[in-house]
Amino acid sequence: MITDTAFDIQKTSQSRLDQVDFDNLGFGNVFSDHMLEVEYTGGEWKQPTIKPYGNIEVPPALHVFHYGQSVFEGAKAYHVDNETVNLFRIEKNYERMARSCERICMPFVDRDVFMEGIKTLINVDSGWVPRKEGNVLYIRPFLSAFDTVIAANPSETYRFYVITSPVGAYYSKSVKLTTAEKYIRAAKGGVGAAKFAGNYAGSFLPARKAQEQGFDQVLWLDAFEHQYVEEVGTMNIFFVIDGVLVTPKLQGTILPGVTRDSVIQLAKKWDMPVEERRINIEEVIEAGQAGVLEEAFGAGTAAVISPIREIHHDGSSVTPQETERGEVGQKLYDTITGIQRSAIEDPFDWVHP
Ligand code: PMP
Repeated sequence: MITDTAFDIQKTSQSRLDQVDFDNLGFGNVFSDHMLEVEYTGGEWKQPTIKPYGNIEVPPALHVFHYGQSVFEGAKAYHVDNETVNLFRIEKNYERMARSCERICMPFVDRDVFMEGIKTLINVDSGWVPRKEGNVLYIRPFLSAFDTVIAANPSETYRFYVITSPVGAYYSKSVKLTTAEKYIRAAKGGVGAAKFAGNYAGSFLPARKAQEQGFDQVLWLDAFEHQYVEEVGTMNIFFVIDGVLVTPKLQGTILPGVTRDSVIQLAKKWDMPVEERRINIEEVIEAGQAGVLEEAFGAGTAAVISPIREIHHDGSSVTPQETERGEVGQKLYDTITGIQRSAIEDPFDWVHP
């Protein structure tokens, strides 16, 4: 177990905290005073350092610029009271990041460095965890290739960072989706299940085209048959069809979301029928036309539960009965956000105070 003393903590002499307008926070544009940095060279991870957040000077030949060997995570810290800040299922982020690293052929730090590193960083920057209801401290761990050789091989040097950003309340308006006729997000055998940087870059053009047609996000279909629903934008997708909560099965192409897993566990606890299976887009359209598509929503760390108000595919559009968060979506939202803030009981031990 690594204790605080294993971290080399170099505190800033010039906090930027008083320059931040906590009443008008955006998303991801303000960064806390400190960051965690761990270097990997010569086949081993060096001592983790917490140092002032700031620019890093890198050469143009930096491996990650050319080959994109980079993965990241996203989590949040929640202010409970002046003594307590909660982390939510952060070990799931560690496990997913370890799997992402494996897929992208990168080494990864030990669990203790990740867990204790994040806790220590948030302790050092505890003043940056927003107090206002709905605001949170967004946590962004990432790991990138730092060799300075232009060669398409796995890098031999890496850096793991954690930066944090106080963010404003995320008001998720109900979204309109379209499937993308010409594009896919992930294919079997590919990197869809990894939180790999390139997956996001690859989704920008289809997302822009969907927006140009008046939709908010892309409803991704499978790469092979282009028939089966996978994800929505950067969230996992759920439908309530005739009283059953249905979500696509994880088969290597879908990012295994922490929120997705929480939704499934809660619904099972409430004895709601849950199905993880392949979902043909035609089934969704038919359920919509038959009036049994009760709710549809995206699930992810940012918005928690993001209601869907229209789904367009191949010339047809359907609208769920509930165009805002319905009974199921709202109950999930209230429960997950309640657990995150210790406002309600945490039956699964999801919270780390
Ligand atoms: N799918 C994709 C592609 C994502 O980027 C995210 C956000 N990390 C999710 C699903 C939801 O995952 P989580 O609930 O862990 O935020």
